[in-house]
Amino acid sequence: MTSTAIQKQKDIRLLSPEQIKEALVSLGEKPFRAKQIYEWLWKKSARSFDEMTNLSVALREQLKEHFCIRPVAVANQQISSDRTIKSAFRLHDTHLVEGVLIPADDRMTACVSSQVGCSLTCKFCATGYMDRKRNLDASEIYDQVVAIRDMAEQNYSTPLTNIVYMGMGEPLLNYANVLKSIEHITSPEGLGMSPKRITVSTAGIAKMIKKLADDDVKFNLALSLHAANDVKRNQIMPINESNTLEALAEALQYFYQKTKNKITFEYIVFYNFNDTLQDAEELYRFTKKVPSMVNIIEYNPIKEADFINTEEDRLDKFSNYLRNKGVNVHVRRSRGKDIDAACGQLANRNKEEATA
Ligand code: SF4
Repeated sequence: MTSTAIQKQKDIRLLSPEQIKEALVSLGEKPFRAKQIYEWLWKKSARSFDEMTNLSVALREQLKEHFCIRPVAVANQQISSDRTIKSAFRLHDTHLVEGVLIPADDRMTACVSSQVGCSLTCKFCATGYMDRKRNLDASEIYDQVVAIRDMAEQNYSTPLTNIVYMGMGEPLLNYANVLKSIEHITSPEGLGMSPKRITVSTAGIAKMIKKLADDDVKFNLALSLHAANDVKRNQIMPINESNTLEALAEALQYFYQKTKNKITFEYIVFYNFNDTLQDAEELYRFTKKVPSMVNIIEYNPIKEADFINTEEDRLDKFSNYLRNKGVNVHVRRSRGKDIDAACGQLANRNKEEATA
């Protein structure tokens, strides 16, 4: 195949069903084939046109000539002693992103990436020390979900129950592709999952939170809060300088009014930084601004930063303080620490041993 031919080929998964129909008509084909092709691309996750066995060989050849499919490939896989599976996914342009399968008693969760690297520079996060190379397109996010779903079924004979957009990147800075991927995940022509099973986690971009509300999204929203006063939050999350807690609270109230979806606050507890009862009181006051729940998350040290996870008794006092005030609190133990798969640790550190 010549390089000119490669340039002419368009990623077919960028097309809507209507656009596929138009393309077929221009190739002299019957428009009803579009539905079959669309189903192969999304519901059946075909990785090549040759898999589309209910199409004629001639049509498959025509499709190959004009279009390409660019599935992500599993480049590496590591399984933690707690059964968490971290995967490195290779994209068509050789970039790597990571996704994680987190098995628990009551759920199987896929954590997926939305960008290659990240432009935000949260001080506690390994991805924040990488440059942002590019956004993932919707199919690259979708493929991570499909691959992780297959891992859940193959390794643990359990279906995927939940999806969190908490991997590499800031989802709301790749807004259109993230929403498009969720459309495919929830559509009956895709994976048919309920949007209630999906959570998008943001470092806090007020304008985009309002846009989610205006777009009337049905999935859940989590805010990576980690400090409930601006001075501390500015120190660990520079995005807070332009998106203050006041601006975020206002955006979250707007989101709740429109969607009636409760907000989840993620709060990593750093020793002697945000784990005192004063911090708990500030967090309590912030939670009162909007119907919400709090996930308290253990910190997983990374080599780039010198934060330390809090101590068990400080964690207990902190979470009990909130509970006694009536806050809905869950303490999330770290998963996949031994393979750098835990929250904030994703940075393409695994060796590349091709497993796919
Ligand atoms: S925590 Fe999220 S937004 Fe912050 S640097 Fe890491 S990936 Fe980016």
